[in-house]
Amino acid sequence: MEKFLLDILVCPVCKGKLDYHKDDQELICKFDKLAYPIRDDIPVMLESEARKISGENA
Ligand SMILES: [Zn+2]
Repeated sequence: MEKFLLDILVCPVCKGKLDYHKDDQELICKFDKLAYPIRDDIPVMLESEARKISGENA
């Protein structure tokens, strides 16, 4: 994924910054504990598509 995308992308729920997890190809919102998938290099910024994550792995 392009680095500049990470700078402009925000969580659609809380408008906060996201952490890019390269290994998992996910964008993580620590605040909402949601992981947004990146499919074919395209971040899917939909709450309905996001995976709930546990606190330990956030
Ligand atoms: Zn959020």
